[in-house]
Amino acid sequence: MKARLIVTSESPLSIRIARSTASYESCRYIPGTTLLGAFASAHRKIRNDETEFTRFFLSSEVFFSNLYPANFQASEFSNTDLRDDEQPVKPVPNTARSCKRFSGFRFKSDPDKQERHGVMDSLIHWGLFAVSDQTKAEILTANMKCTYPVERNECCELLDTFSGFYRHGTNITEIGKSAVTTRLLTRTGISRETGAVQEGILYNREVLNEGQQFWGMMSFADESLYDEFYDFAEDVASKGLLRIGNNLTRGLGKLSLTEFQEFVPDNILSFKQRVLAFNQKFHAEAQERCVDLPHQFYFPITLQSDAIISDSQLRYQTVLNGEYLHQALNLADATLVYQNASTRRVIGWNALFGLPKAAEWAISMESVFLFGYNGKTDDVFYQCLYDIEQTGIGKRTLEGFGQVTVADPFHSEVNEYESRDENH
Ligand SMILES: [Zn+2]
Repeated sequence: MKARLIVTSESPLSIRIARSTASYESCRYIPGTTLLGAFASAHRKIRNDETEFTRFFLSSEVFFSNLYPANFQASEFSNTDLRDDEQPVKPVPNTARSCKRFSGFRFKSDPDKQERHGVMDSLIHWGLFAVSDQTKAEILTANMKCTYPVERNECCELLDTFSGFYRHGTNITEIGKSAVTTRLLTRTGISRETGAVQEGILYNREVLNEGQQFWGMMSFADESLYDEFYDFAEDVASKGLLRIGNNLTRGLGKLSLTEFQEFVPDNILSFKQRVLAFNQKFHAEAQERCVDLPHQFYFPITLQSDAIISDSQLRYQTVLNGEYLHQALNLADATLVYQNASTRRVIGWNALFGLPKAAEWAISMESVFLFGYNGKTDDVFYQCLYDIEQTGIGKRTLEGFGQVTVADPFHSEVNEYESRDENH
C-alpha cells in the first residue's frame, strides 16, 4: 500500500547538493535517501529494537520517496484544487516550454501582480518530428513562440525551457508551480582546536526557509507495517527528533509531520485509459500534420525522481531504451523514438554508519522517453507498464530512486497557449 507523507520545515533546511566546500546551494527538495537516514537515526535514538529497525530500513518492505515542495498558499490559489494535498506534486518534465519573458503557468495569473504567459508541453511535437525522420521541421517552428494575447496582438517571445515542481487539480487546467523560498545564512567557522569561533573563517549557506511543506509518497509491504511505521513517525516527530540535512547541531533541519495518510493510486483501468488517451492524441496530431507513424502504439515514460540504471555489465545507463525495457522489465517490441534526458551525479551520506556513500550516475528526474511499440496491446502489456509505474525502475528504489509515470497527462493535456478563455 501507499501513503502520502507531508512534512513542514520548522527551522531552515540545508541539504547539500555537492560535497565540495565551494558549493553553498541547497537542494530544493528532500531526497528520499535523506528522509530514510533521518528516520533511521531517530530510530536508533528512541527505540532499542533491532527487529523493527531491520523491517523498517533494511528489508525492502518500506519504500521512502523524495518529498517535493508543496507550497500553494499564494492568494491566487485560494479555492482551487492546488491546495488539495491529495493531489501529488511532481517535477516539471524537461519537455515543458514557457514564455521566455513571462514564464509560468497561466492559471490564475494576475497580470497586475505577476504576469505569467502559460506553459505547454512539447513532447508530442518533438516525437512527431523524430518519427518523421526529422523532415517536418514546421511542426516545431509552429510552436516556438508565445501566443499570449497582448493589445490585439500576441506576445511573440520565444518559448524556453521551464522547470520546478507542480501540482494539478482533478481538472488538469488547474495547474500551478510550487513556491520554494530560500535565503543565505552567514556562518562562522568553528576552530577544531579550541571549539570556539575560528578567526577569518566566514561562509555562506543557502537554506530553504522554515514554514514550507514537502509532499511525497511512501510504499509499504502491507497495512500493518504502515500502521507500525505511522506510530513510530508520530513518536519521532512529537519528540522533535525528525531532523534532516546539514548543520543539525546549529538548529537547522527540524521537521514536523503534517500529514501521513493512505494514498490510493490509479487502478489499472484508469491507468489504461490514460495510456490510451496519450496514444490517441499522438495519432490524431500525426494525422493532422501528415506524419506517417512507423509504430502502432506510442507511450512516454517520465522520470519523477532520479533513476540509477545499469546494464548487464553493471555500466551506468544514461537513457532508457527498448533493450532495457525488454531485459529488465520484460517488455519486448518497444523502441525508443525520442528522448529529452539529462544525467547527474548522485552523492549521499549514510546516516546509519556516518560514512559517505559511493557516488553514482543517475538519469535525472524530469527526463522524458518516448517509445514506439509494435507488439500486442493486450492485458499483459498494460500490466507490465502498470507494474513499472507502481514499483519503479533501477537501483535504490527503496530510497525513492527510479519513480516513473507512464503516459503522464502533462504531455497530452498541458497546453495553456490553446485558447482557454477562463484562464486569460
Ligand atoms: Zn509571452
